[in-house]
Amino acid sequence: MSDIQNRIAEVKEKIRLAAQRKNRPPEGVRLVAVSKTVEIDRIREAVEGGAIILGESRVQEARDKIQALGREGIQWHLIGHLQKNKVKYIYGLFDLVHSVDSLELAEEINHRGALMNRRMDILVQVNIGHDQAKFGTDPEKALDLVKKISRLKNLSVKGLMAIPPYYEDPEESRPHYTALRELRDWLTTQGFGLPELSMGMSHDFEAAVEEGATLVRVGSAIFGERIHV
Ligand SMILES: *Cc1c(COP(=O)(O)O)cnc(C)c1O
Repeated sequence: MSDIQNRIAEVKEKIRLAAQRKNRPPEGVRLVAVSKTVEIDRIREAVEGGAIILGESRVQEARDKIQALGREGIQWHLIGHLQKNKVKYIYGLFDLVHSVDSLELAEEINHRGALMNRRMDILVQVNIGHDQAKFGTDPEKALDLVKKISRLKNLSVKGLMAIPPYYEDPEESRPHYTALRELRDWLTTQGFGLPELSMGMSHDFEAAVEEGATLVRVGSAIFGERIHV
């Protein structure tokens, strides 16, 4: 096994143990291997090492990689901020968009989907830490946004996503992950079932799994430190 493949096995084992600590079935947590800035050969190694879901930040970069690696046995997720003028490219590329943070963006995805007679699965990104530097809807506005997005026919809301402020200590991220889960649980009581929770990155995914993550987005712990962001 290569280094990348060893690290995938390690991350999966940590996910399994974190789930087990909370009596959660390990198959309820899926690993998104974040392959932004990573070259094709190393991504291929990851796929051969059991990375089934790849996460990309930029549409154009993802498009080139998807052309090279295909979509057979691989799911591609868009995890980075999506600009409205890029929406026309996402159909046929991505299986899930994690980063829908406004009604305008959702409407554009819906509009493009309607033109092509396709549906897109999405998550609503919530700015759970009220962080000025982060995208996402305010938690207080999440119900209103989910309600409006749920009316769009060519879009299917599967859950919530969050990127909390960065802390060295994962225990400081934990309350944000708890808050996202509680927001999801509350939205469920309001009639909006949102099974997926995309939360947790390389330095804190175990805490996120303990707090209920169903998708963890792990880049550098698999591929090594990135030079660019
Ligand atoms: C880059 C990125 C990640 C992965 O970050 P690591 O710290 O390398 O695991 C996760 N989520 C999003 C939205 C990202 O942009």
